[in-house]
Parts: sequence; C-alpha cells; structure tokens
Amino acid sequence: MTIQKNLSDVTERIRLAATECHRSPQDITLLAVSKTKPCEAIMEAIEAGQRQFGENYVQEGVEKIQYFSERNDLVWHFIGPLQSNKSRLVAEHFDWFHTLDRAKIAQRLNEQRPQDKAPLNVLIQINISDENSKSGITLEEVNELAAQVAQLPNLVLRGLMTIPAPETDYERQCAAFRQMEFAFEQLKASYSTVDTLSMGMTDDMRAAIHCGSTLVRIGTAIFGARQYHN
Ligand SMILES: *Cc1c(COP(=O)(O)O)cnc(C)c1O
Repeated sequence: MTIQKNLSDVTERIRLAATECHRSPQDITLLAVSKTKPCEAIMEAIEAGQRQFGENYVQEGVEKIQYFSERNDLVWHFIGPLQSNKSRLVAEHFDWFHTLDRAKIAQRLNEQRPQDKAPLNVLIQINISDENSKSGITLEEVNELAAQVAQLPNLVLRGLMTIPAPETDYERQCAAFRQMEFAFEQLKASYSTVDTLSMGMTDDMRAAIHCGSTLVRIGTAIFGARQYHN
C-alpha cells in the first residue's frame, strides 16, 4: 500500500461519512499525522496533494518543518503535549496548536510568537472521557480559558480538540463526541473566530464526522503502524 493510495482511501472514508450525515466533505479537513515517520513519507504525501501535517514531538516537528522550509504551502499543526520550556519552538515554527490546557502556556505562546508571523491558531484540549489522562481541561473550564485566549493578540482561538479514551463501539464513541459537538456550538456562538472541532483518529473518524468534527487527525491509516524505538 502506498501513501498515495492510503490518502485516497481515507479521503473516500471522509466523503462517505460526511454524506451519511448530509454534510459537505469539504467542511472536513484531513490532517496527516506524521509523528515518528521520516521526511520521505511526508514527501510522498505532499506529492499526493496533502498539505496539512500534525506532529507530536517538538524537536522532531521542528526538524521536519525546517527540512521543508523551501515550501510555503504546508500547514504544520502541533498536536502533542507541550512542556512550557518548549513553548518557544512551537510559537516560532508551527501554524496551529491543538493542546492548549492552561493559561500559562497561552501567555508564553503569545509573547513568543514572532511578529512577522500570522497569529498562532489555537484549540483548547478537552479531557472528555479519560480521567486518567492529565491532558485537557473539563467542559466546565472552557469558558474561562477561552476568555483568556481571546485577550491575546498573537493567538487566535479557533475551537476545541479532544482525544477520547479508546473505544471500539460506535455508539460509545458518539457519546463522547456529542458532548464535544454541543460545547463547540456554544463556543462558536460566543467567538466569531471559532470554526474548528478537531476530533477523530484512524479508529473513530466516522463517529467523529457524524458528530460535527471539522478536522480529523489521521496517522495510521495514511502512514501505516508506528514503531517506537528509543
Ligand atoms: C497519534 C495521534 C493521532 C493519529 O492517530 P492514528 O490512530 O494513528 O490515526 C491523532 N491525534 C493525536 C493527538 C495523536 O497523538
């Protein structure tokens, strides 16, 4: 299976899921999650027309952004957990930040965003189902953090992101995603910049799209299984 074939299969899955719930496939962005994969794999995806890429690790992501720095048509999303001492690299190199969960990080990113770059697009991460995960805030805490982000001139609040606890059952996947959809609609009503609901991965993208996701983050179905070796 080539990456090109995988990308067209995933695009078809997005189209089908959108059609099933009477949404336009154009309203759903495909983010190719390239963490742990080499630049050659990203190149293959670029040649197949893919432009938006997601990375989880700061150093690895920055190296890839620099490798492709000649191109100005790529959009880079940071989707991993961020320690505050690494925020500068995200502020200086990425276009999107999906995992905001505290005001301190927002303030640092705002201060560190270079003035010659467009404001950093920010999503607030919600811990919707996984009580053991430390990443993300509760839905009750969204309004306060959103109001803080909206004050910062070098950030743009674009919406919400979540990584639910792994769940194979479609209805259970939807149960978490529907709560996200409701919170997203409320946030959208308060902030005109909000237009992005980042949810859905290889194993739950169909449910996510049925529940209003506007951006799916797909790794395995595009690049194959990941191998971690340290
Ligand atoms: C790795 C990762 C993905 C991609 O997951 P797949 O199951 O491989 O599609 C999506 N989102 C985040 C935050 C990830 O860390």
